[in-house]
Amino acid sequence: MRKWEKKKIQKIARERMIRLFQLAEENAKTHPERARRYVELARKIGRRYNVPIPDEWKYRFCKRCNTFWIPGETVIVRLKPEPQPHVEYICLVCGARRRKPYLREKKNQTTAQ
Ligand SMILES: [Zn+2]
Repeated sequence: MRKWEKKKIQKIARERMIRLFQLAEENAKTHPERARRYVELARKIGRRYNVPIPDEWKYRFCKRCNTFWIPGETVIVRLKPEPQPHVEYICLVCGARRRKPYLREKKNQTTAQ
């Protein structure tokens, strides 16, 4: 496969992933099972075409059970200062924990508690 072809395919794959995450977000409250399928599909596309999950969606779902997270309902989001400042996500569906390094320069730092 030529380089530009690969790039083009990856760009399309990325767009499809973003669309699937948007659909998952729209359905998370009303149709959680459907939302889970969208997350699953988006991740499958990412693996198949070697496209990383877009940053804005990276911590919006559970890697273990594919639940699209709704803060306060299906996920607990906590700021932890130790050992290094990070945000901890606890999936309320399967209990999985994820950590995201906490960056001071992020503009919405005060909204996550
Ligand atoms: Zn989970």
